[in-house]
Amino acid sequence: MKKILFLSICLLHVLLLPFAGGRAEASDFGERVSGMAEITGLRVSVQDDKVRIVVDADGEVSFKTSALSNPGRILVDLPNTWLSPKVGKNTQIDSEYAKRVRVAQHDKTTVRIVVETEMGKGRYRVFNLSGNRVVMDFGKVDDAAESADVSENTSANTDDSVVPEGVPKLDPEDKINIAKYEETDEGDADAVDVQIANLTGLKGRSITIDPGHGGSDSGAIGPSGLMEKTVTLNVAMEVKRLLEAEGATVYMTRTTDTEVSPKKAHATDIEELQARCDIANRKKSDIFISIHMDSFSSETATGTTGYYYEKGSKKSFELADKVRAGLIEQIRTKNRGTRTCNFYVVRHTDMPATLVEVAFISNRREEALLNSKAGILKAAQGIVDGIADYFG
Ligand SMILES: [Zn+2]
Repeated sequence: MKKILFLSICLLHVLLLPFAGGRAEASDFGERVSGMAEITGLRVSVQDDKVRIVVDADGEVSFKTSALSNPGRILVDLPNTWLSPKVGKNTQIDSEYAKRVRVAQHDKTTVRIVVETEMGKGRYRVFNLSGNRVVMDFGKVDDAAESADVSENTSANTDDSVVPEGVPKLDPEDKINIAKYEETDEGDADAVDVQIANLTGLKGRSITIDPGHGGSDSGAIGPSGLMEKTVTLNVAMEVKRLLEAEGATVYMTRTTDTEVSPKKAHATDIEELQARCDIANRKKSDIFISIHMDSFSSETATGTTGYYYEKGSKKSFELADKVRAGLIEQIRTKNRGTRTCNFYVVRHTDMPATLVEVAFISNRREEALLNSKAGILKAAQGIVDGIADYFG
């Protein structure tokens, strides 16, 4: 009896293990079609002079590459592949040569990788290793490899000595097939941008963003005097910009330091909050996100919390959870979890809704973060990542 129990625990563990880490959702495109290679991993290593991204598959993969400027992005399509749900979809890269890599099941049979990179800073090349690995290098791509790019010389760069330390080592017998890439003209930028928007799933979505407080209501005030209403607006405006760049339609409850209700400072709390809900409900937006900064009597409280209405839908939970996770990934705050609440704005909106407490304005360190341009940009990016994850 004991043995059976032990065995079943082990089995359960093995079954659950691939999904540990939170990104357990199955592909949007359902089951893997037989005969397709599975993309099993994506590794990023950052060197002083280059970034190497290695994509692992359990079978043969080919690829097609295109480049796009303003902003610089390299798209790598892997036909006849299926993305394992355990592969992280969005990885930030701390390098001047590449900023971020995103991977998604682009359609039923193609996995697409998008690398955000600044054109003109170094070079890039994409090549195939022993059939089941695709390697992308960004930065100071060495000359030997570059000449191979032209001559399709397969012997270049098979010497381990040219591989910088820490970069995944390549087997010497691996054959390198360096593919030519197509530079996409500026004129085609729109077409490629549409594809990128499809990748994030944000194109065509309508989203109401509610910067908490405003006007006569400052919200919480930090130890050095920073007002919550200022931070919520700064973050919200950047969220708007990022979402619109991805093709979403954004409705703002306010875009200046003001109350939302036409009664302004004379409105009751309920009238003010209902005015915010009315905007989302009238526009029939797909989701509603209210942005706030947390505050506590003790300065020691820190972290990020996602809230959704206690009687809300599973969708509201998912939205709250993903926005919170996206934020924490960007601003590295303590995880205070995704919690139920009874806040007016999430209770009286008709669509999946969340109220997110980005960080504690009452904590000196987090107040400083919220008072910095870098902090605002990161927080906004985190919220947008969460929204993209929700729709992805
Ligand atoms: Zn607030």
